[in-house]
Amino acid sequence: MSELATTSRRRILVVVAHPDDAEFICGGALSRWYREGHTIHFCLCTDGNHGSSDPEMTPERLVAIRQAEQRAAAAHVGAEVTFLNFVDSELEPTLDLRKAITREIRRFRPHIVLCQDPTLRYVDTYINHPDHRAAGEACLAAVMPSASTRLIFPELLVDNLEPHEVSEVLLMGTNSTDLWVPFEEVDMTSKLMALREHRSQLGDWEPIAMLQEWATSTAERARAAGIECTYAEGFKRIVLRNVDETLTQEAEAMAAEN
Ligand SMILES: [Zn+2]
Repeated sequence: MSELATTSRRRILVVVAHPDDAEFICGGALSRWYREGHTIHFCLCTDGNHGSSDPEMTPERLVAIRQAEQRAAAAHVGAEVTFLNFVDSELEPTLDLRKAITREIRRFRPHIVLCQDPTLRYVDTYINHPDHRAAGEACLAAVMPSASTRLIFPELLVDNLEPHEVSEVLLMGTNSTDLWVPFEEVDMTSKLMALREHRSQLGDWEPIAMLQEWATSTAERARAAGIECTYAEGFKRIVLRNVDETLTQEAEAMAAEN
């Protein structure tokens, strides 16, 4: 599977633990999907309020800085951001987190949800942040069964947040890639510009060499799977419903209303 079909406008919800996670992991794919006319929304589980080793920095000041940086970064792909405001580096896959993500799914009603792979604990040169695993674990439970089951979290119904069935989940930061999303130079530029909005994290570091290395080595693996591309990002795809059928049903329902 090389890419998402692009015949109709999809709603894509990106659920991540920290400001800058989405830009690092899937900024190229998001840029491409934005160019293709899909609608993107970000859900940030934490506001990154512990992401500094500066002795002058306080968590309160850092929240304001990182929320502004994330909003600026999301704007590069036309996305708005919901902050769930759980504490950075203390995230757990609790029922509270699951309910908060369920609320966002029922509110935004995405066809596609992107989240971090909760099963990735480490690779040869990296230990996955426990917040990433917690965000992914809670998000998967929010997609199935909480978002689609009416009697789970009945307080959401009071706010008119009716059940919603997500069509596909794409896991990011995974060792089980089976979906390769090629992207273009223009998307690499967009990814880089979005990432540079996170000034409190990047400091003087210029990320372009690393981003190009990631995107070209992923593209190499994509080409080995038969997909011609220069840059790519990889995901594990979970198909719960046929997204094209869902889009057709939505269009029919809208036509019937009018
Ligand atoms: Zn992170």
